[in-house]
Amino acid sequence: MKEIILVKNGELALKGLNRSSFEDILIKNMKRRLNDLGKFEFTKSQSTIMVDPVDDDIDLDDAVDIVSKVFGIAALSRACVCEKDFEDIKTTALSYLSEELEDAKTFKVEAKRSDKKFPMKSPEICRELGGFLLSKFHNLSVDVHNPDIIVTVEVRDKYAFVRGNNIKGAGGMPTGTSGRAGILISGGIDSPVAAYMMAKRGIELCAIHFASPPYTSELAEMKVMELLKKVARYSGVITTYVVPFTKIQEAIRDLCPEEYFTIIMRRIMMMISEKLAVHQNCYALITGESVGQVASQTMYALACTDCAVNMPVFRPCIGMDKEEIIAISRKIDTFQTSIQPYEDCCTVFTPKHPKTKPHLDDVIKAESNIENLEELMNEAIQNVKKVIIK
Ligand code: ATP
Ligand code: MG
Repeated sequence: MKEIILVKNGELALKGLNRSSFEDILIKNMKRRLNDLGKFEFTKSQSTIMVDPVDDDIDLDDAVDIVSKVFGIAALSRACVCEKDFEDIKTTALSYLSEELEDAKTFKVEAKRSDKKFPMKSPEICRELGGFLLSKFHNLSVDVHNPDIIVTVEVRDKYAFVRGNNIKGAGGMPTGTSGRAGILISGGIDSPVAAYMMAKRGIELCAIHFASPPYTSELAEMKVMELLKKVARYSGVITTYVVPFTKIQEAIRDLCPEEYFTIIMRRIMMMISEKLAVHQNCYALITGESVGQVASQTMYALACTDCAVNMPVFRPCIGMDKEEIIAISRKIDTFQTSIQPYEDCCTVFTPKHPKTKPHLDDVIKAESNIENLEELMNEAIQNVKKVIIK
């Protein structure tokens, strides 16, 4: 029995003339992600992409798991390939879907006939196959509105396909169709979620992480890499920069008023990130900030942070409660890693009483105490470590 994966495009279908190039990017993304499992053939046909395993030893469960995480896919399903012959369609449906049909109480049959030369019309296929399955499974009855299982028969140009229920796809747009942006990634809960949310909109990610050894440890950095690996299952490759931030943080501590420590640190993070992101052909920065979550994320503080850069800053978690962000982090399996207790550079030298309503003029004045800031930033940029996360 030959099985393939049928992939239904998501929003792609809406993109008119761009559709074909979007589909090509989607296929390229699937190909790259499936590469480790073996060779697959991809065929485009009427808002469906057929993913056909070429090697015999490919585990289709693994392939389905990988494809279900690729953005730009509304739904997918495993399907069994059979001859364009109604007897073969019947026996295939019986054997291929027997487990699901035994467990179900209600079902319906849907048929799509793109080969108009096939002698039976769609309603006839549904009626005949429905009757046949009813005669074989006495546990089943027909429910056309809300069935436990929909048995779908697709008669296409070369073969017919029989399949059961769809699996929900990851949605969104294919990664790489919306350009590149730089995610400021910490080891926390929010920034991996922010990364996932923007990748879902088709943005290719590059990541920037600030590390302040010895105040932050090697383990904290490894945790960030682990989080990025989890995000990369959705986004594809993430070029990552680890920026040595110790000297700058010490300069802030030594030269600036304590109440401005965090806001100045965040502005400098943005400035360095912007410089690195430009090099990576990025057009925006992304953070995991959410209004009011901490002192550096009041609207007034965010306004001061924004002014540090010219690039737009995307904050997809901005209006979300922590609980909502956590729900997504559980879904994408980053939560358990995020809650491991390692220090972040944001948690060293934290002021006792941070300004929650900072004025930009005062912040800039405090920041100008670091006279060699430009030099320190350039030095940090020269010493970044580049890591490719797959
Ligand atoms: P999270 O990263 O989950 O938001 P958090 O809420 O503890 O954890 P904050 O201190 O609120 O982190 O930082 C706000 C945002 O600043 C983060 O979402 C992230 O985009 C960025 N950020 C914080 N620390 C770092 C870091 N060490 N390197 C890069 N970006 C960082
Ligand atoms: Mg946060």
